Amino acid sequence: MHIAVVGAGLAGVTAARALHEAGHAVQLFDKSRGVGGRMSTRRTSWTPDAQREHPLAFDHGAPSFTATDPTFAGFIQDAATFGWVAAWAPRMAPGSRAETSTRWVASPDMPALCRRLAGELPLHRSATVTGLARVAGGGWQVLVDQVAHPGTFDRVVLAMPPAQAAALLQAHVPTWAMAAREVAMTPCWTVMAVFHQAAPEWDAAAPSTGPIAWAARQGSQPGRDVPDNTAADTQSWVIQASAAWSAQHLEDDAATVSAALLQAFQALPGLAQAEVQWQTSHRWRYSVPRNAPWAGECTAWTDDALGLGVCGDWLGGVGVEGAWLSAQALADAWCDADPAAPGHCHPSPAMFEAA
Ligand SMILES: Cc1cc2nc3c(=O)[nH]c(=O)nc-3n(C[C@H](O)[C@H](O)[C@H](O)COP(=O)(O)OP(=O)(O)OC[C@H]3O[C@@H](n4cnc5c(N)ncnc54)[C@H](O)[C@@H]3O)c2cc1C
Repeated sequence: MHIAVVGAGLAGVTAARALHEAGHAVQLFDKSRGVGGRMSTRRTSWTPDAQREHPLAFDHGAPSFTATDPTFAGFIQDAATFGWVAAWAPRMAPGSRAETSTRWVASPDMPALCRRLAGELPLHRSATVTGLARVAGGGWQVLVDQVAHPGTFDRVVLAMPPAQAAALLQAHVPTWAMAAREVAMTPCWTVMAVFHQAAPEWDAAAPSTGPIAWAARQGSQPGRDVPDNTAADTQSWVIQASAAWSAQHLEDDAATVSAALLQAFQALPGLAQAEVQWQTSHRWRYSVPRNAPWAGECTAWTDDALGLGVCGDWLGGVGVEGAWLSAQALADAWCDADPAAPGHCHPSPAMFEAA
């Protein structure tokens, strides 16, 4: 079958890879310039003076993830064997929330896991899908920026946050669109900054009170390709606000938000003298689902007669693991259920070796 997968975050590339392994002809579409979605790294540079330019990289979306489901944990263990991901045990600041599970990061940056899974699959970048049109006799045409993409598809997978999926579902399955709209996503204001000060005795902070939910020194993660210290006595940090604080300040201007979060950061242990050298911010309107009402029972939505499927973290369970589980459930539903069949959807060691 010819299958269009709309959205090249972890859910989309996982579904695309599994369906490709099962013998289908898959094409990926994403409105961004690359893959990764919310597993994202901002690459930029800091020029303190005319002689120096320092590369910077900030994991400003998901900073790490955990793997508790046995199937996902198995995939991540295999991925670690092949160097796609690495365990990260940051030294936590005093007063941080307790850590219960191993944290994982993709190497050398967060979108790398998605890049590996997407591999050589056809990917249409900067391609915003604005609509889907039924073709007489069955199948779909994908509209990119209102223009029909050449060719037709037997099936379409939507792998994107619920509000964006609802917009594309409305004309075809209004009940799914309505259900998707009921899933709320939390916002997250994120500040990326370079500070001048010796590094504190810790790598990350997860304060249980105040505006900051998470702060991490970039480069304390394993396997990064940008040096830990951008210059002598400077470090780059990602500071992420809590969902409640972000919601309260969602429409504030970036300068006001940055000032408040940087001030809260400088109040963390050992950072009173930290001087801001460079900073920028990003407002995520959709960071993580507030809940995933169908996780575990209806982890992906599929309609074989219509040739439409939906997956994403909001269906599979909150976070990176949920995105993967949802995509895998969708692929399972559309592939041969026999684990011995060549078209079986689960990742195999051969997949890691080939990538
Ligand atoms: C600030 C932040 C912190 C986070 N922290 C954690 C954490 O600590 N642990 C954790 O496990 N998870 C965390 N997450 C959540 C995690 O990143 C997501 O759960 C996961 O990446 C979701 O993957 P996905 O494929 O379902 O969706 P996405 O990554 O959102 O992918 C959807 C893709 O669809 C594309 N798209 C959308 N609409 C269209 C369209 N119309 N046409 C074409 N393309 C389209 C988008 O560009 C995007 O690439 C965090 C996320 C953020 C933003």
